[in-house]
Amino acid sequence: DIFYRELPKVELHAHLNGSVSFQTIEKLIARKPHLNIEHNMTAIRNGQRRTMDECFRVFKVIHQLVDTEEDIFMVAKDVVNEFAADGVKYLELRSTPREEIKTGLTKRRYVETVLEAVKQCKGDGVDIDVRFLVAIDRRNGTEVAMETVKLAEDFMLSTDGLVVGLDLSGDPTVGHGRDLLPALVRAKNCGLKLALHLSEVPSQLEETELLLTLPPDRIGHGTFLHPDVGGSQTLVDAVVKNNIPLELCLTSNVKGQTVPCYSEHHFKFWYQMGHPSVICTDDKGVFSTDLSQEYELAATTFGLSHEDVWKLSQQAIDSAFPAFFKTWSHSSSFPRILYLKQ
Ligand code: 5GP
Repeated sequence: DIFYRELPKVELHAHLNGSVSFQTIEKLIARKPHLNIEHNMTAIRNGQRRTMDECFRVFKVIHQLVDTEEDIFMVAKDVVNEFAADGVKYLELRSTPREEIKTGLTKRRYVETVLEAVKQCKGDGVDIDVRFLVAIDRRNGTEVAMETVKLAEDFMLSTDGLVVGLDLSGDPTVGHGRDLLPALVRAKNCGLKLALHLSEVPSQLEETELLLTLPPDRIGHGTFLHPDVGGSQTLVDAVVKNNIPLELCLTSNVKGQTVPCYSEHHFKFWYQMGHPSVICTDDKGVFSTDLSQEYELAATTFGLSHEDVWKLSQQAIDSAFPAFFKTWSHSSSFPRILYLKQ
């Protein structure tokens, strides 16, 4: 539906290597034929489902394909261009800095390369405003988390406002948030905003309770926070009291089987409460989707009018990490965000 594509959108939860499109995977496979990687190893088609574990194996395959500066530069440019083509006007992209000994890739160059790609898109006049969140992979433990925060801090201080925060992601069944708390506290104290994956699986209640004390600036998924699915009213109250926006990814959760079907997605719970709920893609490549499709799915599943959808999309900018002037241009058929507050 053209309405959803033309709707100016805000994407706040997109993992770089999960967002790699079919076309870009094709180019990567051509660069590395010896890996014998096929498309069905990098994307989950419509109607297909995977366990969480299988999803995390997909990321490992993509990481094999994206292991040089050239790959990262191409992937980041393609992803930014694709979001822009889908009508995304503001994008917060996140990625885990990776070191690859055999190609000489360092974590610092990894981040620099993504930022160079973002700047080149801007120079090319691509109609999208991009910011970057440095991601901590929870399975790598305390020390790597602290190193990652220091790296993010350096970039926040030395670059042009592109690095605005920190993400905590990675396999939710591995590791415990308590080991990462010192790194997250440090990040918060130095002014990095925190977007944390919380309660993605039911076993994370105690961890979520602990991490909510920070409190984070946004929550990724939060699938098992509310009492109907085994969470608790205490957790819900903490989220509401601190007014922490939720990043909600319908297709990702259905295909990854943490939510049984679209109509039972926790978007309903939070949206009905009037709590800031932001529709996001998570991994548009892996889950074969885009943000227009996610808005349309939310609308058809939960009976939202075009006006409701418009409001939902417009309100998403309030959850972005830099503060925006609420100034909208009415020169085209759709208003859009005009100014970024410095
Ligand atoms: P990258 O950080 O390499 O750009 O993007 C892929 C990585 O993002 C994965 O290896 C994983 O750490 C993280 N990621 C992507 N999607 C999800 C998700 O749905 N849940 C969690 N917890 N992590 C994810």
